[in-house]
Amino acid sequence: MPSFPEAAKSATGDSQLRHNLRKATHTIRAKRDGAVGELDDWSQLRAAGAAIKDRTLRHLDTYLERLEDAVTAAGGRVHWAADAAEANDIVTGLVRATGESDVVKVKSMATQEIELNEALAQAGITAYETDLAELIVQLSDDLPSHILVPAIHRNRAEIREIFRDQMAAWGVPAPERLSDDPRALAEAARVHLRERFMRTKVAVSGANFAVADSGTMVVLESEGNGRMCLTLPQTLISVVGIEKIVPSWSDLEVFLQLLPRSSTGERMNPYTSTWTGVTPGDGPQEFHLVLLDNGRSDVLADTVGRQALRCIRCSACLNICPVYERTGGHAYGSVYPGPIGAILTPQLQGTASEPEASLPYASSLCGACYEVCPVAIDIPEVLVHLREEVAGGSGHTAEKAAMGAAGWVFGGERRLGAAQRAASAARSLVPRRMPGPASAWTDTRDIPDIPEESFRSWWRREGAAEEAPEPGRAPGDGDEQEGGRR
Ligand code: SF4
Repeated sequence: MPSFPEAAKSATGDSQLRHNLRKATHTIRAKRDGAVGELDDWSQLRAAGAAIKDRTLRHLDTYLERLEDAVTAAGGRVHWAADAAEANDIVTGLVRATGESDVVKVKSMATQEIELNEALAQAGITAYETDLAELIVQLSDDLPSHILVPAIHRNRAEIREIFRDQMAAWGVPAPERLSDDPRALAEAARVHLRERFMRTKVAVSGANFAVADSGTMVVLESEGNGRMCLTLPQTLISVVGIEKIVPSWSDLEVFLQLLPRSSTGERMNPYTSTWTGVTPGDGPQEFHLVLLDNGRSDVLADTVGRQALRCIRCSACLNICPVYERTGGHAYGSVYPGPIGAILTPQLQGTASEPEASLPYASSLCGACYEVCPVAIDIPEVLVHLREEVAGGSGHTAEKAAMGAAGWVFGGERRLGAAQRAASAARSLVPRRMPGPASAWTDTRDIPDIPEESFRSWWRREGAAEEAPEPGRAPGDGDEQEGGRR
């Protein structure tokens, strides 16, 4: 997996990709602005969402046990998975126990994170994605590039080609003369998936929220394919990150307002499915909840980084991010792309390897992601925190040496004065482009002009005279006018 700068370089050279991304992100962004602007109490809702998540994370052990008790009491079974391998083993074992070799899936980031499809394939089990965008990604043997719209990098013409070329190999083929009209494409997917829903007996899902008080799982989606997936099969296995808990239904109410407006710019979510254990004669008759840690406890232990666990995966931060808009999601090399991926992935997976270590730098720190985040995650703060961690680790020798030297110079008044005088004297010799490895820095930035005289020297010459008060006049009187002219 290449580091972010390498992957971004090739992505930004793809003009079709940039066009597709710009069009899609700007459309969703405008819709979100409209939907959020309708509410007078958006900032209070946002603060409530952040507070609920923080409180829940502070008492996560209590709520997890409460959830386990409620799910069990409702006829479900809870499994605890410390990492991806354990979660995959549990799910594979559960599917095997049913005797089935096919499962349908409702879109789930958690199962992508643990690479469940690949683990199931190794066990001879085929997982069929049923979310339209996930279906496009699966048929084209591609990777998701957006949290909400995994195939955002594809346009209609490309999707038609994928359907025409690949659908037959996975089930019901696309119609003979399929056009790239969105309705025709949606109908082709509907027919293809319907046949799958009718004959598959096991489903795998994630959940947007898990209500601790009642043991209820909640999935929000726009197409209704998720609801088919959750209600038709005999066995339902839900893989859910431990941070997805909300204590009660009244807490859930806050997120059911925040999420649709932030993600799709809608006032209300089109399909919100909830299920609690099993109900005799209705829906899946066997329910398993796999609670996934996979690094989340470590994230929780970091007092700055833990706010990333508030994320409700709305994708607003992706749609506003100038870096994501130009590189797309694949450049992040992670299931979680964009600003949230840049802080979540290095925390979940560590920063020991180059791809993860490069992610905290995949940002201009403009702060737009923080502004739009419905649970007020201060992404720039976490990015800087992670950069500190990366810079403190091994590697980055030249950067560390440069920062060490700068710290030494700034640490002494005389040293700083001498360095400023030397820089002013040598200003005409400073190149526009740095030599050697430092050229990577100046390839994308201009070296600022060094002034003829430093501020400290100017202050000694001019400011000292101004500071001396005239007889009968207090210091500072009339300073604004003088300062304004300068
Ligand atoms: S970090 Fe905030 S804006 Fe980004 S996906 Fe998560 S909740 Fe949405």
